[in-house]
Amino acid sequence: MLKFCTLFSGSSGNCAFIGTDRAKLLVDAGVTAKSIEHELGLIGEDPGEVDAILITHEHIDHIRGAGVLARRYGIKIIANDRTWRAMDQEIGKTEPEQRIVIDASSGSFYVGGLEVSSFTIPHDAADPVGYTVSDRRHRVTVATDTGFLSPSLFEHFKGSDAVLIEANHDLDMLENGPYPRYLIARIRGNRGHLSNVSCGELASKLALGGTRAIILGHLSKENNLPEVAYETVRRTMEESGVVIVDHTDVIPPDFFAPGSVTSEQAGGQYPAEAGLVVAPRYGHSKVILI
Ligand SMILES: [Zn+2]
Ligand SMILES: [Zn+2]
Repeated sequence: MLKFCTLFSGSSGNCAFIGTDRAKLLVDAGVTAKSIEHELGLIGEDPGEVDAILITHEHIDHIRGAGVLARRYGIKIIANDRTWRAMDQEIGKTEPEQRIVIDASSGSFYVGGLEVSSFTIPHDAADPVGYTVSDRRHRVTVATDTGFLSPSLFEHFKGSDAVLIEANHDLDMLENGPYPRYLIARIRGNRGHLSNVSCGELASKLALGGTRAIILGHLSKENNLPEVAYETVRRTMEESGVVIVDHTDVIPPDFFAPGSVTSEQAGGQYPAEAGLVVAPRYGHSKVILI
């Protein structure tokens, strides 16, 4: 069984957990090590059992606590070469065996039985990526900081049971908010961040293709609100024919019955159902078990 949730999400720091009984991974470690240790405890996980931290890109909201965690628990840090070069100083000293350099073009690799693959995302960093993690039965894909909805981005998310995608800003709040023009242009640009509307389009397509759990993350503090993001995405999904199912704390495993027919496979006869949650800025999201 795969366990998946965010621990922190937003411009003040990002960290997600994906694990099984045998392997435990963090995607990014963008808040202090102490905060991550605390939050892992709240979802019943031991930081000493984390095998690796997968780094998406070198921005501080994704790497802040990575070096300290790695040194404290002997955790491996995994990133591609250009990201390593951009973040090396901030990570600080680590043992050579903790420093794993992946090649974006080499496909996938394994961490304790979990298959991991990275893919390029459009964002203003050295070589930013998203990650797909699979236990061979189920698949989780994580990518925030995504400038725009490119066809290749959709291809990488497609077929995932659960996803973390970005709902960064409400377009009206961004346009009428406190940000100067150049910053608004950066955020709206192709290497900036994804709006609630674009996020809704992506979420709809994914749910119609069989994705059953969608976490909205990396919300802007100034240009978005959790209820605005949720409502915009929900409306778009429902207009596309997706039924939003309301779950309590844990999405039950049988919700992801293997071989279940997706709405697309059924020729759209059956409504696609998906759970939709907003990742809190501080503290963990609902824990998804698949
Ligand atoms: Zn970020
Ligand atoms: Zn970033």
